[in-house]
Amino acid sequence: MSYCRYHPNIHARFYCPNCHYLACSECVDEVDSYGPNQARCFHCKEQMDFLGGAGGIEPFWRRFGQAFRYPLHSNALWVLGISTAITLLGWVIPLLGLLATAFLYKYCFSCLERTAHGQLQAPQVVTATSGGLVLLLQIVGILSLAVGSVVVLAAQLSPALGIIWAIFVTLALPAAFMILAMNQDFGQAVDPRKHLELIGAMGPGYFILWLLLLIMSSSVGALQILIGEHFLLFGYTASVLVSSYYAIVMFHLMGYAIFQYQDKLGFSAQEQTGEFKKRGDKQRLKAKAGMLLKDGEYEQAANLYHDYLQKQPRDSEINELLFNLLVATSSADALGKFAEQYFNYLFVSEQLFKVSSNYRRLLQLLPNYTPSSHRLRSQLAEQLYQLGDFKGAARLLKNYHQNCSNRAQVIEAYQLMLQCLNQIPKTEALRQQYQNYIDKLVAAMQSEP
Ligand SMILES: [Zn+2]
Ligand SMILES: [Zn+2]
Repeated sequence: MSYCRYHPNIHARFYCPNCHYLACSECVDEVDSYGPNQARCFHCKEQMDFLGGAGGIEPFWRRFGQAFRYPLHSNALWVLGISTAITLLGWVIPLLGLLATAFLYKYCFSCLERTAHGQLQAPQVVTATSGGLVLLLQIVGILSLAVGSVVVLAAQLSPALGIIWAIFVTLALPAAFMILAMNQDFGQAVDPRKHLELIGAMGPGYFILWLLLLIMSSSVGALQILIGEHFLLFGYTASVLVSSYYAIVMFHLMGYAIFQYQDKLGFSAQEQTGEFKKRGDKQRLKAKAGMLLKDGEYEQAANLYHDYLQKQPRDSEINELLFNLLVATSSADALGKFAEQYFNYLFVSEQLFKVSSNYRRLLQLLPNYTPSSHRLRSQLAEQLYQLGDFKGAARLLKNYHQNCSNRAQVIEAYQLMLQCLNQIPKTEALRQQYQNYIDKLVAAMQSEP
């Protein structure tokens, strides 16, 4: 199986014959006129080769080790911790137990979904924070329909038919979950024809998966009995953790089976992502910049952000990305050119809390930096003064009157300068000079008609 050069955990879907690298759907440029399996290289702009859907994907039964390591990613560990903690609280407040189950299963379903799309790393915790209760209702609906239909059949028609139906229902349960995750459609998830379609498409692979899931879920039961008897709280915590861990592995495996059989299931991992086709300019830009950064092409990435800011000067995310990139790469020259635009943006968008810390980061690279705009100089100085950095503020206001034709502005700046000097010892003489200068300007303004 081949992976994206920029995302070592994601299955590659394209290859650039020009630049010789493999890329996932994220790392290619989708062009509006292109079909779902066509994309252009971000670097050379040539059309890339589509590698096909499931071609070259390792079968799920050969990657057990990885499947069991899947929940050990920090994202999944957080979910395990949070859902176990809420479950334990559920001892005191019964409704919380339900919430924990909803949260865990929402996360399990997003593991299934993401894996089905070829993302082999546990998704972020936020994917489980909404819609969990609806999903839980759907799961309960599937299970009650399964049990209910068996009972009705056995009681109303014949017990033998009931048993056969019960076997089918048990067999079809993973298929129901997989369909629910793929289509988010309850009607399809409980439709036996859909189950048969999926089982038929996967063939023997489905039965291997089913057996694995059966073994795993029964071993969870056995473990719960084993640990549960001795230490009440410890045993309970351990069994909740173990069963949640297994649930994530099982849903990951189901997702992987969809990923592996995507061609046969008529499921294209790429088409289903939705976001891929709908990415806006900014998403594409971020994807491309991400690739350049991973290649160490910091200047090119910075230029991309720059060009974007020409069109969208108030985009807060790109402004931050560019400033942080220039600081992190110690690009003093580029930072000097961008700083004025950046701090203006911070003042315009009233993000004053960022001003002084980022200004200090700038000074570490450019100790003599002074903005060319007088207005920005006063704004920065005012901000530093408010935070008690009197020397920093005074440095910005030094020689303020040079090239500044606005007398009122100069007076205001030097009044602030005086306030700063008042806080700095041994500046009496200097203060007198500034006071004299202010008096002179005031007098000049009053003498004018
Ligand atoms: Zn990628
Ligand atoms: Zn290329």
